[in-house]
Amino acid sequence: MIICGLGPVGQLLALLLGDYGVRTLAIDREHEPYTLPRAAVIDDEVLRIFQSVGLDRAVLADAQVQPGASIITAAGRAVEVFRARSGRLGHPPLVSINQPAMERTMLAALDDRPTVEVRRGLALETVDRRADHVDVYARPVAGGRSALISARWLVGCDGANSAVRARLQIPFQGRTAPQRWIVVDALVDRPLARIPHPHFVGRAARPTVTLPMSPGRHRWEWMLHPGEDPAPHLEPAAVERAVAEWLEGERAEIERAVVYTFHTRMAARWRRGRVLLAGDAAHLMPPFAGQGFSSGARDAGNLAWKLADVLDGAPLSLIDSYERERRPHVAAMQRLARLIGGLVQSTRPWRVRARDGWLCAVEGTRVQRLLAENVKPLPTYCEGAFATRPARIPMRRTVGTLFPQTGRLDDRLGSTWSAVTIDETSRALLQDAGISVFDPGKDGEWLRARGLTWALLRPDRYVFACGGPDDVGSALQAWRRIAPPARVEVVG
Ligand SMILES: Cc1cc2nc3c(=O)[nH]c(=O)nc-3n(C[C@H](O)[C@H](O)[C@H](O)COP(=O)(O)OP(=O)(O)OC[C@H]3O[C@@H](n4cnc5c(N)ncnc54)[C@H](O)[C@@H]3O)c2cc1C
Repeated sequence: MIICGLGPVGQLLALLLGDYGVRTLAIDREHEPYTLPRAAVIDDEVLRIFQSVGLDRAVLADAQVQPGASIITAAGRAVEVFRARSGRLGHPPLVSINQPAMERTMLAALDDRPTVEVRRGLALETVDRRADHVDVYARPVAGGRSALISARWLVGCDGANSAVRARLQIPFQGRTAPQRWIVVDALVDRPLARIPHPHFVGRAARPTVTLPMSPGRHRWEWMLHPGEDPAPHLEPAAVERAVAEWLEGERAEIERAVVYTFHTRMAARWRRGRVLLAGDAAHLMPPFAGQGFSSGARDAGNLAWKLADVLDGAPLSLIDSYERERRPHVAAMQRLARLIGGLVQSTRPWRVRARDGWLCAVEGTRVQRLLAENVKPLPTYCEGAFATRPARIPMRRTVGTLFPQTGRLDDRLGSTWSAVTIDETSRALLQDAGISVFDPGKDGEWLRARGLTWALLRPDRYVFACGGPDDVGSALQAWRRIAPPARVEVVG
């Protein structure tokens, strides 16, 4: 297996593959990881993937849990638009991070994965797809001849300007926003009293986003109007003036001020033969929903076990489910990011008035609570590698849903296929089939509330099949069709 690109998505994929025992070579053209912060927040789904590689606590040690996010109206009123409802997945739903620190944690952990080799300073040049393998030519950036590397699969985790995507001639469809944003990161001596959690500041003259990052850090983002020259805003004195407005005695040392352009793009396809795309190489979205890296992390969590199973002899078609599952979910996140971006970036007075009027009207009502608690798309898939097609309405889904985790259930489940059950007949049937079966503890409530007694979980904890004792046989038949033969043989 080759991973091209060792940004955070490539790192996480390498860790997951390492845990599955897959021999993996990860290359990156840079000699050192990128040291400036980009991603500001991650969510509970991503922390659960970190948990699966033993890193959730290490990542959280350098992070700050956020209670939610608010929009500040033009008149200065804070209205909650996202409430972080904890519990369902066992981790806090909104957590500010420092991306370089998170990457250091992952890179250090990669040293303990004996099947993963990292080679830096090596840039992918060409990709030659063969029937049963991929040939890659990569050249040392310090100079020298390019060398051939062959592998059964190649995953392009090489970011927005992906060389892998370009070599496959896959269009990167979508749009680039006309507005650019100035992003300022600062080291602060204590949390800012005025901005205890992420704020979208809906000023018509200069829309602003500001939020606490990992402990000791804070970020501001200011929108530039289409065509506006960023240079005067990047002057150190101008940055300090703009930041000072938000301080109440705290000290802020500016770390960097840069201009970012935001894109909403998706690769026309995420796979050609034995070459796949993941993370920013496959999709980009504006950062308003904090879902760029988080979506890439989900790609890694979705793809790693499928590649491991296929390398173990599972049918190749399992890999097709990667894009079928992930693409609609990423599209939903892009829509959310654009929706929030649209609210924040309003500059026409009538739009600002309409937005603020609506926010003030729903404030304190059930509508606001419902919206704030359910604004983010659920961790469910509408189709893919499941025993039966998931229900059409996401709220109704059982099959296709990420199984809950109120405590640390996943630590008991391990990293392979497993089942949870609250009835003895199903337990015996599943165990006879060689599947590790667990008592779900408190999470048995999820089964009971839906009239179910067991769920067969994929290695990424999505429900493959569920039902009562009479449904176990058909679920096992479906499972045998996609599981690696070695595992099915063991289980008879
Ligand atoms: C201002 C801003 C705010 C953001 N906020 C958030 C947020 O709050 N939450 C969130 O989840 N996301 C956020 N993001 C997005 C997030 O930072 C990215 O989605 C994430 O870094 C992408 O990771 P990646 O591994 O896919 O790509 P990258 O981090 O771009 O890594 C790609 C790697 O591939 C390597 N590479 C490229 N070409 C080659 C080649 N030819 N050969 C070998 N190696 C190559 C590069 O050197 C690089 O190391 C934000 C982004 C920005 C800019």
